[in-house]
Amino acid sequence: MFKLSRYFSIASFLAIGAVITVLSLYYRNNTTDALMAHQTRSNVSLAKTFANTVWPRYEGFVRSASEIPKAELPQRKEIDALRADVVAQMKGLNVVKVKIYNLDGLTVFSTDAKQIGVDKSDNTGFQKARRGDVASSITFRNEFYAFERYIVDRNLVTSYIPVRKDDGTVEAVFELYSDVTDLVEELNRTQTQIIVVVSIALGLLYVFLYLIVKHADKIISTQDQVRRENEDRVRYQAYHDSLTGLPNRVNFGERLGETITRAKRTKNLVGLLYFDLDRFKVVNDSLGHDAGDQLLRVVAKRIQDIARESDMVFRMGGDEFTVILENLRHAEDAARVAQRLIDSIAESIQLFDHRMTVTASIGIAIFPTDATDVDALVKGADAAMYRAKQAGRNTYATYTADLNIQAIERFTLETELQHALKNDEFMLYYQPKVSLPSGQIVGMEALLRWKNPRLGLLTPDKFLSILEDTRLIIPVGEWVIRTACQQNKLWQDAGLIHTRISVNVSASQFRDKSLVKIVREILNEAGLEPRFLELELTEDLLIEDTYGAIEMMNELKEIGVFLSIDDFGSGYSSLNYLNQFPVDILKIDRTFISNLMTERKDAEITHAIASLAHALNLGLIAEGVENEEQLEFLHSHGCDEAQGFLFSEPVPAEEFGRLLSAEESGNSSLKSVAESH
Ligand code: C2E
Ligand code: MG
Ligand code: MG
Repeated sequence: MFKLSRYFSIASFLAIGAVITVLSLYYRNNTTDALMAHQTRSNVSLAKTFANTVWPRYEGFVRSASEIPKAELPQRKEIDALRADVVAQMKGLNVVKVKIYNLDGLTVFSTDAKQIGVDKSDNTGFQKARRGDVASSITFRNEFYAFERYIVDRNLVTSYIPVRKDDGTVEAVFELYSDVTDLVEELNRTQTQIIVVVSIALGLLYVFLYLIVKHADKIISTQDQVRRENEDRVRYQAYHDSLTGLPNRVNFGERLGETITRAKRTKNLVGLLYFDLDRFKVVNDSLGHDAGDQLLRVVAKRIQDIARESDMVFRMGGDEFTVILENLRHAEDAARVAQRLIDSIAESIQLFDHRMTVTASIGIAIFPTDATDVDALVKGADAAMYRAKQAGRNTYATYTADLNIQAIERFTLETELQHALKNDEFMLYYQPKVSLPSGQIVGMEALLRWKNPRLGLLTPDKFLSILEDTRLIIPVGEWVIRTACQQNKLWQDAGLIHTRISVNVSASQFRDKSLVKIVREILNEAGLEPRFLELELTEDLLIEDTYGAIEMMNELKEIGVFLSIDDFGSGYSSLNYLNQFPVDILKIDRTFISNLMTERKDAEITHAIASLAHALNLGLIAEGVENEEQLEFLHSHGCDEAQGFLFSEPVPAEEFGRLLSAEESGNSSLKSVAESH
């Protein structure tokens, strides 16, 4: 992680170090220069004083010294006199040595007697002074001979000074050594003090700035953390469903891909379960979205509870979930898990004030048995899930290769259906509704059939869902209403009994705003009185948009047609609403009738529906009546109309016409309760 304060500290220490080094070098240079200049000046004046006072006595000796043999020179009496004068002059001063050279560079005199007679003509200091300039330098000496004694560890300034005649020409060179050790020590002390003070000042500045930077560091690191958290959250949201917290569809695709790659290596089976809640939309629409959300959360929790640690659960969107089962030992294990899930989901759920049950349909596909890549596996599980739904929901189905064939078949049917209406391939069958106990025909239901050129006559279970999905149901439904009305009118005109014909209306037809207009037009065209037309609606359709449905039904009632609720009891009718719907008739669902004699509960429900219909003053009819026991039961429980194979299967118009004629002439062959006694 980037730490501003660390970089700041490193940079600061380097900078402080550099400042102090530069400062001390600068200081040392400057002060040494000043010291030298000062000492040189004092040496020069000293030399001058010396020259003025004693020089005239020795100038001749010095000038002619080159002619004196070297060995004799130190013994000369002028040397002793000079030494005495020099010592007298320099007493109390910081001068530690004096030398005198003649113009040839010969050391004519030195306070250090050993040096007398030495040739210094090569010395640059000497040469400079010989030309008329003063030359100074500062040196450090560990040991130095000064006036007959040795001194140690000294800083010395040495100056070569020209001695001039009155006309200004140089006639000799003095060399003066002055001891500046005290001064240098003083300078060093001051330098140390300055460095200490500057260091403290810079240190304080550093601490002050460090605190600011540290604070900035903290801000940066908090911002950093916030940004990282945001990123994590965004990533989490992209991969998870916000409602249930489960991984989502994006996640699913990636994980399934990885799982399959692993399984290819380990040669293990992977099971994919594809879930869909049955009739979730109805719950959502009737109880509200909050309840729907709550339901999804409960279901998600139940799936997670059943799943093992290694299983991966996803919400794909809406009411669809998937589970990836990795490392399956047997394909049957997937079915076992699916069954456990179905059982768990089917347990009742408390949703706010409602206690209810939902069921799920699950499709299973196995890698590599059913498919070897992600797409095919998902398609397979999805197809299997649809099969589970077709098989009556609340169950699971496994993928089989013929599901593909089913999909192709469905596609072919869809293409064929596009042309069916125009090719006049639809027809209506009619099934009588009879009154109990007389067995008289009191109505008929028009049921759609399709003469498929390839497959022959098809019942709606083979093609109705395709019509719904493609919305072809709108024009086909209109054709059904028109054909049924025209047929009824034809029978009436032929002098047969005047009775009501009922037509099934699907949800999408009912939601289509033009339905009222179409019904009115068709009745007008056909010249059929509205009371001879009945529209059969399904429960679910009424619950999806209750208020819209009531409005629609009121408009239809205004026309004068009859309205019934088909398959009553199979859906999620809310009894709260039932009395608000302007319906005339309830049609008890066929499943209750078929189990009437075997399931106590179904008998009780049938009885309850009958009581309800009476209480609300509604007509009641039972459909799917196949035997006399059922008929007997229904009659004794107050159901006064029935429909079913016991009386007649749905038949083509011509045949139905014959049934009506027989009825008209009193030769009805239909069963009646009376007859069965
Ligand atoms: P539905 O309206 O409940 O129609 C009754 C269904 O039960 C018919 O099936 C009929 O043949 C069948 N049935 C009648 N009596 C018995 C019996 O005693 N035992 C058994 N097992 N079945 C009996 P069908 O004709 O196959 O129609 C199935 C469903 O298709 C209908 O159920 C209805 O919901 C829908 N349908 C039929 N025609 C149309 C139509 O023109 N438009 C729309 N939207 N739906 C239609
Ligand atoms: Mg019906
Ligand atoms: Mg029905």
